[in-house]
Amino acid sequence: MKKDICSLDFGELAEEIAGIGEPSFRSRQIFEWLHVKLADSFDEMTNLSKKLRERLDSEYEIPVLRTADHQISKVDPTEKFLFELADGNMIESVLMRYSYGNSVCISSQAGCRMGCRFCASTIGGLERNLAPSEMLRQIYQIQKMTGERVSNVVIMGTGEPLDNYDNFVKFIRMLSDEHGLHISQRNITASTCGIVPNMRRLAGEGFQITLALSLHASSQEKRSSLMPVANRYSLDEVLKACDDYFTQTGRRITFEYSLIAGVNDRPEDTAGLTAILRGRNCHLNLIPVNPVRERDYTRPDRKKAEEFKIKLEKNGINVTIRRERGSDIDGACGQLRRRHVTAK
Ligand code: SAH
Repeated sequence: MKKDICSLDFGELAEEIAGIGEPSFRSRQIFEWLHVKLADSFDEMTNLSKKLRERLDSEYEIPVLRTADHQISKVDPTEKFLFELADGNMIESVLMRYSYGNSVCISSQAGCRMGCRFCASTIGGLERNLAPSEMLRQIYQIQKMTGERVSNVVIMGTGEPLDNYDNFVKFIRMLSDEHGLHISQRNITASTCGIVPNMRRLAGEGFQITLALSLHASSQEKRSSLMPVANRYSLDEVLKACDDYFTQTGRRITFEYSLIAGVNDRPEDTAGLTAILRGRNCHLNLIPVNPVRERDYTRPDRKKAEEFKIKLEKNGINVTIRRERGSDIDGACGQLRRRHVTAK
């Protein structure tokens, strides 16, 4: 089997290329072709000899993503991509254009095994982890297809990044590597459902990324009824890990809270959230839940969501309601992939 050259970081590639007897500037050139010029094949690497290109091609592969579907929203500047991996697995990514730049939301796994009750991505379980190259190339492909620079990356697509820890961490290093696309770690946000031991490991990586915690409830009981992972790591443990992440990295935590009508949008929930978040240096993002066909959760109406937010603000919580994007294009949470998997 050929080696995935796009998952080798700068140092590893240098070792490989030295190993086949090439001078060190060659590995710099190849890294640049792969991670700056975003080449899809060795043929494109025209400053390498034909012989070297053939040698590389016989030993290594560049895992290309095939665009299986591409939807462009008519209501806002959002585009959604369904990519097919080499083994036929499907993943999805979203491009959102903002005044501050282009943000891409990527998947970290094909499927997911976390089982959150309101989420479409976990319904078919986990297929497999994505390689660093497969995470990187979602961004590369979108940048190539649109011809526009990507400035921000959020790891909030399908999958749990901290359930694919090593590949995820390598991906962050390569994405922010000065020899590569060099996206600032401050412009990267990774979201986790709260795998405590790996949140603690992540705090020690020396990253400047933002960590988002999927909170979704303010009591242990309610949280574990929505998110099975909460049975393994309690709310108290998760919050403690968030505090320690902030202490260790100086990066403020973002809490995500999907508002579900009648489930977590009641007065007891604003009270609970206030008790948890007041005094914590953090930001709360409210996301009216996206209805998933296989689930029967609905979102509170706009007015109710606004009231929920205002109550929290009055209690001194730093809170926003996330603006909805691409609602006309299966823009939300694993729905495009789900539709394709179901159709098959
Ligand atoms: N596994 C990670 C990241 C992927 S999901 C995590 O759990 O954080 C990104 C965010 O979307 C999470 O906060 C997740 O809980 C939320 N989400 C999932 N399904 C949703 C839905 N149907 N409506 C709104 N938010 C949803």
